[in-house]
Amino acid sequence: MREAEVDLEVCDGCQDCLEGCVYDAIDLVRIGKSKRLKAKVDPERCCGCHECAQLCPQHGIAMNWLGRIEP
Ligand code: SF4
Ligand code: SF4
Repeated sequence: MREAEVDLEVCDGCQDCLEGCVYDAIDLVRIGKSKRLKAKVDPERCCGCHECAQLCPQHGIAMNWLGRIEP
């Protein structure tokens, strides 16, 4: 199982990932005092489909493996 994770350092809030996520798993949120909104993935909704990572023009979304892989 994989889950998308946004690199907040490179995300510019363009919303491309948000519009491409058919699972509605991404929101734009304000982080700290920053004026720019950033993408945030809801792990409860993300199914790890990888679509958002392919859409991000900043290459700012990584797919992380979750849980333990049984031998
Ligand atoms: S990996 Fe798929 S389900 Fe998860 S946030 Fe990205 S587009 Fe949405
Ligand atoms: S597509 Fe990339 S740069 Fe645009 S909001 Fe999503 S994570 Fe941020």
